Amino acid sequence: MKDYAAEVDLVTCIRCGICIELCPEAFGWSATGFVVVRESEGRPECLEEAIKNCPADCIRER
Ligand code: SF4
Repeated sequence: MKDYAAEVDLVTCIRCGICIELCPEAFGWSATGFVVVRESEGRPECLEEAIKNCPADCIRER
């Protein structure tokens, strides 16, 4: 079953795009330029890297 593996605090997100670059399976841009979490089958392996490299430390696993 697909589900959201993470959540992003959009108040602290600086919209740098690093999470999308490192883990496009889990993150993308919305039409309005905010980060959206994509539904994924289980936990994408790249999620760890995105969490570690987020400069605003605003990604949490669910
Ligand atoms: S890496 Fe962090 S600060 Fe940068 S866009 Fe993703 S969630 Fe926002």
